[in-house]
Amino acid sequence: MLIRTGDTVEVRTGNARGTRARVLAVNPSRGKLIVEGVNRVYRHIKRSQKNPQGGRLSKEMPIDASNVLLVCSACGKATRLGCSVSNGGVKTRTCRACGADLGQVGRAKEVPAGQAASV
Ligand SMILES: [Zn+2]
Repeated sequence: MLIRTGDTVEVRTGNARGTRARVLAVNPSRGKLIVEGVNRVYRHIKRSQKNPQGGRLSKEMPIDASNVLLVCSACGKATRLGCSVSNGGVKTRTCRACGADLGQVGRAKEVPAGQAASV
């Protein structure tokens, strides 16, 4: 998954279609992310020692990463991402619309010999 915490994304589907907001958390193994103010639900809180009043808590629930597009910091468009892997095994994201470099993803990984041709 090429979207990271702190990115600005545009939501493409559902109630929040068209909104642009910050990514608060990502779950790469599930392909989900939490976007600020998107998919808000009320969770009912039972009375407890910690929370003697109980009540309702509004919080964001995860949405699927396929339902958002990254907003490019260079051209401002919601864009698909290109990705290339350097010889050192570092993934670099690029904007498909303008070609701008959108930074690295994750830590460097070993690239098996012969697979480094995608640079
Ligand atoms: Zn761009």
